[in-house]
Amino acid sequence: MTHFDLLLRGGLVVDGTAATAARHADVGVLDGRLTLLPPGAPAAARETADLTGLVLAPGFIDVHTHSDGVTLIDGELGGDMVRASVLQGVTTEICGNCGSSLFPALPGRLAAMRAETRVYFGGDVGMYEGFAEFAAAHAAVPRANHLTSLVGHGTLRAGVIGPGDRAATPGELDTMCALLDRALSAGAAGLSTGLIYTPGTYASTDEVVALAAVAAAHGKPYVTHLRDEMSRVEEALEEAVEIGRRSGASLHVSHHKTAGKYAWGLTRRTLPKLAALRAEGMDVTCDVYPYTAGSTALGAMLPPWASDGGIAALTARLADPGQRDLMRRAIAEGVPGWENTVGNGGWDRISIACAPRHPETEGHMIAELAAVRGQDPLDMVAELLIAEQGEMTIISHSMIEDDVRRVLAAPYSMIGSDGVPKPGGRPHPRWAGTFPRVLGHYVRELGLLSLETAVHKMTGMAAARFGLAGRGVISDGAHADLVVFDPGTVADGATFTDPLVPPSGIHSVIVAGRTVVRDGTETGARPGAVLST
Ligand code: ZN
Repeated sequence: MTHFDLLLRGGLVVDGTAATAARHADVGVLDGRLTLLPPGAPAAARETADLTGLVLAPGFIDVHTHSDGVTLIDGELGGDMVRASVLQGVTTEICGNCGSSLFPALPGRLAAMRAETRVYFGGDVGMYEGFAEFAAAHAAVPRANHLTSLVGHGTLRAGVIGPGDRAATPGELDTMCALLDRALSAGAAGLSTGLIYTPGTYASTDEVVALAAVAAAHGKPYVTHLRDEMSRVEEALEEAVEIGRRSGASLHVSHHKTAGKYAWGLTRRTLPKLAALRAEGMDVTCDVYPYTAGSTALGAMLPPWASDGGIAALTARLADPGQRDLMRRAIAEGVPGWENTVGNGGWDRISIACAPRHPETEGHMIAELAAVRGQDPLDMVAELLIAEQGEMTIISHSMIEDDVRRVLAAPYSMIGSDGVPKPGGRPHPRWAGTFPRVLGHYVRELGLLSLETAVHKMTGMAAARFGLAGRGVISDGAHADLVVFDPGTVADGATFTDPLVPPSGIHSVIVAGRTVVRDGTETGARPGAVLST
């Protein structure tokens, strides 16, 4: 008789594959690996848990986070933010999304980039030459769950040619390809772009094709925040498909949405397009978070030329009334190739999430704050951005529920929080609520997805897409990353006013065979690792 470290008896096993219906089974854990047993099979263990009435599933894989540096920030500051992910059942986070990662860069660029990362990650989290150096920095800070990272194209670009608005020279592109190749060889999970963000937005389609071809050579995906998710979303999707086709890389569309009043309902066109590509044999998938609001940097509301040269250049332009007028005009009239969030929605749909030196503004709509001050919204935004040295996050209430549901229901969509954990402020509740919200609201309350399908989107589908071998499934020999939840009560607790409230119904979370959350509370165990793919 095998003597397990941990024996989980009586649970309803939802195994993370799309193929198997939920069934009762016992699961043994030994040396961080799983063994499936018939219900009630004779077995011994150091610790046995009775999961009667509960679901046992593979730990959730959050395919889209911006948690690259949160554990590297001072532990006290990072505490609640760090905890939020594992408390919702996430056992692996995939960061480095939207073109932004903490590596790679040429050694001579590291110091300047390190200073700029404060803005994106809310603290001095470092900047690293490659994936191995990034992994070593994380290995020095114990963590509850696992982490892996994509290679951010914007970071790669800034790490070779700097933050300027210009094309890469052939030599620079070769250097970018070489750094990317090294990072992917060292274990990074793929290439990501954020084509609305500077400096990624300065790249031509050809530049991205050349880089995506490097990912293709490693059999790793090209993951993209499209150049436009609003009125020009269909054009932007065409560009992504072209990049996938020409490079040979598999294509993964990040947080797929059709946002802003001119794009509402366009998932009726984008999703059939993705389905048709799949029917033709193209390997294309997407992820989605279950909310009708997005969140990003306030600076992304300004035309790309405003940030040419980096944050110091941006704040200098914001201080110049003539430049402000040009920005106001760009927002009113649009700029070809630029996703204009304010022009597509308005300052009355955008609230401030995080302004470290102006917490009184957090949670309020920009139009409302400007009206109270008797100011033009852009002038107020300019003054705040200067005072905050660019370090501000917003929430944009830009989507409609029908679109969110259609993407959630698409058979090739997986779940990613797009969480942006930075200390302070009122971040988007998705960082603390995404997975329980899908299980509670969309599975139990609305019946939009079956439990098996929803779990698959959070586990097996994600592991297959991002090369996480032996994870995302409950099967003999798989890694013992698990979550136990109550299907009758699981629900998100986080709201826009109180964004870090833990979920209900997530009973326990097991990482590498060790219990990191028990009865909804962290145990203090830190078995998490940086995973190579
Ligand atoms: Zn993004």
